[in-house]
Amino acid sequence: MASSTKPARSILPLLAATLFAQACASPPAAESEGSETGSETGDETGDEPPLPMLEGYADLHLHMFAEEAFGGGWFHGQATGPAEVALALCDAGQPGDHARLRDDLAGLFTGCDQATLDEAAAAVFELQALLLLGGAGVSEILGEVPGSKGDTGLHQDRPGGWPELEGWPRWDAIAHQQAWEGWLEQAYESGLRVSVMSAVSFDWLCRALPDENVTRPQCDEMDDVRVQLEQANEFAATHDWVEIALTAEDARRIVSEDKLAMVLSIEASHIFGTQAWLAALDEVYALGVRTLQIVHQLDNRFGGAAPHNTIFQIAQFNESCHIDTDCGLSSDSVTLGFDVDSDCRNVLGLTSEGAALLTEMMDRGMLIDVAHMSEQLTRDVYELAVEREYYPLYASHAHFREIMVPAKATEEKTSPAWIVSMVRETGGMIGLRTAHEEVNTYEPSPVANSCHGSSRSFAQAYDYGRLGLGVSIGLGSDLNGFIQQTRPRFGPYACSASFTEEAACQARDERQTGVGGLGTDFDEWGLGHLGLLDDLIDDLEQLGSDVQPLRRSANDFVVMWERSAGQRSGPASDPSDLNPGGITINPSHAQRRAALPTECDVPYCPASILAGMECRFDVECESGVCAGAGACGQPKGVCE
Ligand SMILES: [Zn+2]
Ligand SMILES: [Zn+2]
Repeated sequence: MASSTKPARSILPLLAATLFAQACASPPAAESEGSETGSETGDETGDEPPLPMLEGYADLHLHMFAEEAFGGGWFHGQATGPAEVALALCDAGQPGDHARLRDDLAGLFTGCDQATLDEAAAAVFELQALLLLGGAGVSEILGEVPGSKGDTGLHQDRPGGWPELEGWPRWDAIAHQQAWEGWLEQAYESGLRVSVMSAVSFDWLCRALPDENVTRPQCDEMDDVRVQLEQANEFAATHDWVEIALTAEDARRIVSEDKLAMVLSIEASHIFGTQAWLAALDEVYALGVRTLQIVHQLDNRFGGAAPHNTIFQIAQFNESCHIDTDCGLSSDSVTLGFDVDSDCRNVLGLTSEGAALLTEMMDRGMLIDVAHMSEQLTRDVYELAVEREYYPLYASHAHFREIMVPAKATEEKTSPAWIVSMVRETGGMIGLRTAHEEVNTYEPSPVANSCHGSSRSFAQAYDYGRLGLGVSIGLGSDLNGFIQQTRPRFGPYACSASFTEEAACQARDERQTGVGGLGTDFDEWGLGHLGLLDDLIDDLEQLGSDVQPLRRSANDFVVMWERSAGQRSGPASDPSDLNPGGITINPSHAQRRAALPTECDVPYCPASILAGMECRFDVECESGVCAGAGACGQPKGVCE
């Protein structure tokens, strides 16, 4: 264990990056080789006439009522109610009732003996910083993360609030409501027909929040889940354009009637807590749940989770007190919490209790979501599915591994082609994360990969999945998921997923020669809220992607569900045509930075900064004049 006694200052950016966790993520799975079996696309329905194609798109992962997640202590804003109440101004500028962590974080770590804790903290500086800084510091750091700047801690720069909505909603909100009912209706009116509403919680985060902020201080994930499920039922009962779908037939009827089929799901790290699982399943089934993830951020009694962000390794360590030295995920040399192999893959797959739970779910025709599963768990679940004549498996919110930039592609929670192959064989589909990241270039895509983190990036992933992997794709928005969304192509945050100077160049080119905006909030907010889902699809379309399959993804979901309950006699499709090629890996940031022109040895983007914005050099400004700048940009000036 390295003795990284870095001072708190240099820890900050890393800690921030790390804490700025994706609360949610994607799927897992097996050994690369594809897993073709047979080939006959045995199909369930002999010679019955095909059912009519349904119109509308599907969002496979939404946390509409997440203000009740984490004991009710993190999100500001409500999913329902009049806008002036649900989206009212928060108490930004005060140490308020949301978006911050408790001061005595060290109190969370009393389960491991002191020597083990010291050893872990010495090896992993994120843990060290958590213990040293406490919640006030960490909350402010979170709020300084590029992208989510100001959305946590005191966040006085972005109070939001109806009707001005300055600051939020925006693509980078991680603590403010993005799934208000008015926005759901907006999405519905523009074609959303299936929405998988996932009741979410994470007890570790709940315990990390100040006591006075949480409504249910016992931090029982299932209590949070119950509240959200009840709210969803109440919402459907009081809105005539939405219904909870309890069967595939229900879903088909609801969509055919041009209404929104809401499907209830659960995403929790300790799903069912310590309850007897069958009774717990009965209970949530009675509340309308028809799909769920058996794991989320942490290993549990049902199976292994895919490790990703260091913060979750710390949370896992908080439970297991395990310091693994087979591979370094949390630092160069160690992995906290998880038991990993020498490739940094979680060794935990499906437990016997997990197998029993999944078997029961399959008996009931419930849909199995493989999101967040460890690779070993995915392999194990796939085996079960194959035994059941290729019972459908889907991933509600996934990143295709091969299209992700190298650092991201190493994460177990990204979905490699061999998992997509399994999904195809079983007749499942992918909910593609509406992510905010730079990705590699998919050469066959008609959309230029020239605005990192925007709908152009989403297009690379979408076209790779559709054309290369040949899998059915819906959206996996994960809105209210404590996670960033697709970035804008215009405005101050345009194309901002890589580094500042490149973003300036990409934004300049987008303005000058790119495809114009939609004229909606999506242009400068990105995917700031649920009502803008369809704008993402519109933007993809005007950029040149074929979005027809996406616009019919509600149909794919219903057909998948029908397969779960119907007769199956083999694989749903032969994935041997799956082609993971055509991807060009982006040069590193250092290489790209080195290719830029320099002034005073500093890289810059020529003629990219608009009038009134801060600048260092004349050559940076569109006008050619950076007024008031000193020598070599010290102090900075303002473009004329
Ligand atoms: Zn989620
Ligand atoms: Zn706030």
